Amino acid sequence: MDILILSILIIFLMLVYIITHRRNKKALHSFIDEKIKVFQNVFYVAEDIILILSDRNEILFANKSAIEFFSLQKYFKYTTLEIPQVKVKNEWISLDKLIYEHNKTFEKRMHVFSNTSLQLAEVKKEISVNLYFNNTYMDIDHKIPCTIILINDQRKEKEKELLGFRHKLTKLPNQAQAISDMNALYAKLHLDKKRIALVLMNIDNFSTLRSIIGYEQSNIILITFADYLSGLAKEFKFSVYHTVHNNFLLLLSNIDSQKDVLSVIKIIQHELISFYKMEKSNLHLTASVGISIYPDSSKTYNLLDDAYKALAKAEKSGHGCIEIYEPSQGKHEYDELKLYNDIHQALAKNEFEVYYQPIVEAKTQEVVAAEALIRWHHPEHGMITPNIFVPIMEKTGLIVELGQYVLEEVLKQQKRWELFKFKQIEVSINLSLLELETGKFVEHVLAQLDHHQISPKLLKFEITEGSAMISEAQTSKQLLELKRVGIDISLDDFGTGYTSFAYLKKIPANILKIDRSLIIHVVNNEEDQRIVNAMIELGHSLGMKVVVEGIEDKEMYTMILKMDADYIQGYYFSKPLPVFEFQKLLR
Ligand code: C2E
Ligand code: MG
Ligand code: MG
Repeated sequence: MDILILSILIIFLMLVYIITHRRNKKALHSFIDEKIKVFQNVFYVAEDIILILSDRNEILFANKSAIEFFSLQKYFKYTTLEIPQVKVKNEWISLDKLIYEHNKTFEKRMHVFSNTSLQLAEVKKEISVNLYFNNTYMDIDHKIPCTIILINDQRKEKEKELLGFRHKLTKLPNQAQAISDMNALYAKLHLDKKRIALVLMNIDNFSTLRSIIGYEQSNIILITFADYLSGLAKEFKFSVYHTVHNNFLLLLSNIDSQKDVLSVIKIIQHELISFYKMEKSNLHLTASVGISIYPDSSKTYNLLDDAYKALAKAEKSGHGCIEIYEPSQGKHEYDELKLYNDIHQALAKNEFEVYYQPIVEAKTQEVVAAEALIRWHHPEHGMITPNIFVPIMEKTGLIVELGQYVLEEVLKQQKRWELFKFKQIEVSINLSLLELETGKFVEHVLAQLDHHQISPKLLKFEITEGSAMISEAQTSKQLLELKRVGIDISLDDFGTGYTSFAYLKKIPANILKIDRSLIIHVVNNEEDQRIVNAMIELGHSLGMKVVVEGIEDKEMYTMILKMDADYIQGYYFSKPLPVFEFQKLLR
């Protein structure tokens, strides 16, 4: 209990005592009345429950905590209190009886019942409290007996204690609690052979969101999300924690495989899409997810660190990505044979998703186009980037089917943007050489454009420098046909091959995309600056527009801007995003 409150209360009692015993009552009266007023003000907001009862159980004074605790009406004065029961020596006795039993000792002392229980009249629940009361008089003539009661609700103390282990906003257990729970879990690990998964989840773009919808609204999102996770945690038997800001942690201690973890995450990610409603529209939220699993990829003592590493990687891959920690981070050690088997089903199982990365005009930074980049949501490995699976698809020939899928998705999306009055932009699709070699490629594209009623001006194909060189004749013929109907052709990854000037002239591309590898050191390396500058000039001299890829920060942007590039693509503006996220940039 608050010592201060107790001492103030004792002074208050002494004053009452003085009032009742001083000869020169009148002189003191007004002074003391004022004092009591001051004390009452202090009592009113005190955390402890303070109540003054008449001998007929009428409430003469109740502070804020008492009003809440006893669920009193606003105008409580002189209403009768529904007397609670108090546990004394394991027996329940009503509070008024207890007071009556002690009322012989008027004014002399405070009666203390610490660590006892109280039961409110209507509610059967036992509440642990410390109870103090003192019998005295309200008036100087000893005509109005009263009892001053002070109750210290121990649930509040417990709550305060817990707060050290709870997130202040959402009241979910915090990271300190998670670590303590994890340690307890590790101690029991030898008892069974289950896996432990740690899932770190970051609601994407939260600071931007906060700046748009405001602090309070974004707090509401966090609280609602915390409640949602708590509900889900009960259903799927995991623990949930709120670490900091927009970061949540799930501890799954009884899983058989990665699949179990991923299925829970899928549910959450799906829920997030339509999670928060603003006026009439939904706010499409996504979360980046980092996972570490014991014993598959992590040792117990660095499970948390590994999950953070995986999260950092997931965030780099764009919004809504899932990353499972791999011991050799950076180098994926996927079982190629397994991916090879899985990939045959992946299209049928709808495991692919097209992400969009904006391409902006260099000078105005306005979004003028986008690149469609494919993502594979693998049921066990989570999000896999194309560098891993595109080569496998090329080997198996499945890339042709994938290309058709991407084309159809992009055209459907273009139609939706048209219908919903989004800004219409050109979307470029990466093309594999194999697609051109099927022979019917151009026919297929034209048929699709016709089917979806999309203008060829909204479509662009990217072909890598390497593949353009391999089969020049075949490629050129088809690319020329595409160009003829108004479809732009980009020469992708320029600078990674050995294209000669003469060769470049033969490839019917009207856009040159300078590869990221040449940009990485452009800020500090003069040699790279000269090369990039020369490439931009080369493109321009051939009447091509130049896109520079891989712009990650302001310095890179400023440098490239000086070199007169036309368009820019890179994390500095945006990572590749799921369509719901991306289209916000088109509004
Ligand atoms: P790309 O066509 O050169 O695409 C650009 C790649 O650079 C993308 O990787 C993009 O996420 C990444 N990127 C863009 N800006 C930055 C940046 O500022 N920093 C860094 N570090 N990276 C940046 P992603 O999506 O992993 O794609 C890799 C490659 O896979 C693509 O390279 C493309 O060749 C191929 N690919 C992607 N989607 C498809 C597809 O639908 N079909 C085919 N055939 N290939 C595809
Ligand atoms: Mg590309
Ligand atoms: Mg490229």
